[in-house]
Amino acid sequence: MPHAQQRLYWADEVPVGWTGTWPSELQTIPERTAYARTMTSVQLLEWITALKAKTDRLHVVNMFTSPMRKVAPAMVLSNPRVTSAQQARTSGKPVVFLFGNIHPPEPEAAEALLMVARDLTIGSRQQLLANQIVIIAPIFNVDGTDTLVAQDGSLGSETPHILGVRENAGGLDLNRDAVKLQTVEANGLYRLLNEWDPVLLLDGHLMSRVTHGYANTYGTTTVPAAAPGPRDYTHDTLFPAVREKVRKEFGLEVFTHALFTPNTWPPASWSHDRAAWTVEAKFIVNDYGLRNRLAIITETPGQPTFEKRIYAQYAYINALLDYTNANAKQVQAVVKAADDKTVADVQAQAESGTLRNWLDGKYESRGKIDVYGYRSNVAEYKPGTSILGTRPGTASGPPELVNVDDLTRPVGTRDAVVPRGYAFPGAMADLAAKLRAHNIRVQALEAPMRVEGESFRIKAVRKVRSGGYDMTTLDGEFGALETRELPAGMFYLDMAQPMANAAFYYLEPQARDGFIGWGVLDEALKALTGSGGPAPYPIFKVRRVLR
Ligand SMILES: [Zn+2]
Repeated sequence: MPHAQQRLYWADEVPVGWTGTWPSELQTIPERTAYARTMTSVQLLEWITALKAKTDRLHVVNMFTSPMRKVAPAMVLSNPRVTSAQQARTSGKPVVFLFGNIHPPEPEAAEALLMVARDLTIGSRQQLLANQIVIIAPIFNVDGTDTLVAQDGSLGSETPHILGVRENAGGLDLNRDAVKLQTVEANGLYRLLNEWDPVLLLDGHLMSRVTHGYANTYGTTTVPAAAPGPRDYTHDTLFPAVREKVRKEFGLEVFTHALFTPNTWPPASWSHDRAAWTVEAKFIVNDYGLRNRLAIITETPGQPTFEKRIYAQYAYINALLDYTNANAKQVQAVVKAADDKTVADVQAQAESGTLRNWLDGKYESRGKIDVYGYRSNVAEYKPGTSILGTRPGTASGPPELVNVDDLTRPVGTRDAVVPRGYAFPGAMADLAAKLRAHNIRVQALEAPMRVEGESFRIKAVRKVRSGGYDMTTLDGEFGALETRELPAGMFYLDMAQPMANAAFYYLEPQARDGFIGWGVLDEALKALTGSGGPAPYPIFKVRRVLR
């Protein structure tokens, strides 16, 4: 693997021999098939079994057993080996979590992750385990991965020839389940995240046919309610450093996860919205930012070959791990500062009602930037076949630079007071369980508690179609501060905890896509409002505890 690349690789180009030489049992399925195939979940297990026999730096945990009764392994890579989250904490090293195949038709990150695991344990990048523990879950959506279909090139490239499907066995998109945690898969993932507490999470995707000129693109949390410290650090410090490293060491140009708009030449803007990246918490990466942690989504363009897309994910992940290994203490400090500030702000400002946070947001301009693009990218059937390809002369070779408006800066648009705590009836044990699944501390009151606070008065419950889902929306308003006696057995969520930003976003009645939006409270609302009429919102906002 050459370092200090002099040249840049565009379109399908990759460096010769970039994967290195490996014994057959440690070659990935793409390597064994000239990049015509991707792995199934059984082939992943076979590969992990082979790696286990060659290294003492690997521990495997199963995140869950899927509805189709398949396991989802996560490889814990560390030197020396750790076999529990407790050992990881004792080591003082940060945990970095990388996963693939949340969308199985986008398998390049999954395949790259095996190569990364190989490099870190027995290959040329073992030094990347010096200061960090790396957890790799190559296949998150195992059932979708094993539900194979022959593809026709419509994602952009004809390789691999056979692919999994996007949804899980229940037909659900796992990258819309981050708030409601409806699926076995998301709950299993969150159990691992709660236990191991990674400082950084990376989720690898593909963006289908695009007209930008980048080999890979990246984005971070854009939920405006997320603590600004970790996301600003990711955007302002980590992203430029990793981008530079990918260019210098791997010869690739990478940039923000966005698309041109309008889709004509020359485009005017470079837009997160256009790439279906919203300020909502439904995406795993966006939601992870509500935990005061670093979170990154990568999206390769669809039209390069499978080999190039794997190389692009491999390059980005290696450069990222190089960065986190070199800056492990700094990343830990950023995360800890965000945790400490979240708690301190609640303690200092919540009782006076001066602490506020965002319920919704939108993207604004960061200013004009130069972006690599192609004038067109035209899909057409390859002559003599029934397979879609890219028309020669479009979206290939070195791209052009175009000056556009960078519409990727998330800003808040509506806000609300952050309370000192939230209280809800003891009968709502499902809500307490849902909060705990998100790592939010909530407890049943052992004795009555007198509090001052505010109650939201629901005027109407509506369903609004948004992003392909029927989202619940509440009309209404908060009443004046009132004194209440909360009985023993009622649930109380003390907001002086690092997960306060997430708790606020999930529980506020008018958050863009919290528990109300995703229907988590639909049953409770039906009991209260009947056909959707006026009723008090069942979750009381506690301004202060009266002793
Ligand atoms: Zn995807």
